[in-house]
Amino acid sequence: MKCDLCFHQCELTEGKTGFCKARGMRDGKIVSLNYGCMTSLALDPIEKKPLAQFHSGSSILSIGSFGCNFHCDFCQNAIISQENHVEYEKLTPEEVVNLALRLADEQGNIGIAYTYNEPLIGYEFIYDCAKLAHAHGLKNVLVTNGAITSKYLMDLLPYIDAMNIDLKAFTSGFYEKIGGNLELVKENIILCSAYTHVELTTLIIPGRNDGEEEMQQMTKWIASISKDIPLHISRYFPRYHCHIPPTDVDQIEHLCHIARMNLNYVYKGNC
Ligand code: SF4
Repeated sequence: MKCDLCFHQCELTEGKTGFCKARGMRDGKIVSLNYGCMTSLALDPIEKKPLAQFHSGSSILSIGSFGCNFHCDFCQNAIISQENHVEYEKLTPEEVVNLALRLADEQGNIGIAYTYNEPLIGYEFIYDCAKLAHAHGLKNVLVTNGAITSKYLMDLLPYIDAMNIDLKAFTSGFYEKIGGNLELVKENIILCSAYTHVELTTLIIPGRNDGEEEMQQMTKWIASISKDIPLHISRYFPRYHCHIPPTDVDQIEHLCHIARMNLNYVYKGNC
């Protein structure tokens, strides 16, 4: 059987698990293996997602599971997104929403952010949770690589109030090396921007995606959708299998300067 949730279109046989480690074929069906498996739970400032123009100054219950449909050697959350054996606590959508509501009463929580690992490969849980959260007046925020099949995204978007989508680079070669798909991400950025509040993040890795020309092309393309889409240009630090030294703060400043020629809202991150 084929899983069509993302561009990998994994062919699965009984007992096999997909590229993302979060879906597999069990008892003749393709199932979500990380449904309700919480590896991370925290009440975070909304700016940490990062979102600069959505309920600034608020906090949001941030949850994560395991698995990812990209294999970035520089992953900043590799323990939960790339490793095989991950510890987790099982929660139902009702339990997550009840926790979010309690935190809303006690600490001003505005909703639920699906983040830390790639949330969209746990599609069924995100969908159930987001729908229930909306029914209780909570906000839903997705922090994603933006690389699932557009038809699934369309069904989820009515329940999503804001997104931060990674636009990791602007070359197909960069995306191919991490098992990603630039064209699908671009397509989904256009789609999501039409339906919800979208901000973008680019993690700048020295020698890989830090060229002026690439930043020019990327920000011109973003401006062709809207000059008002906020872009977060973030500083990289060595993690997981990538040992390139951290990005110079001056280079982040320089790329922000280039980006501001094309976009109205550019923010530096991790500096
Ligand atoms: S969601 Fe996972 S199992 Fe499904 S196609 Fe993508 S990588 Fe493969």
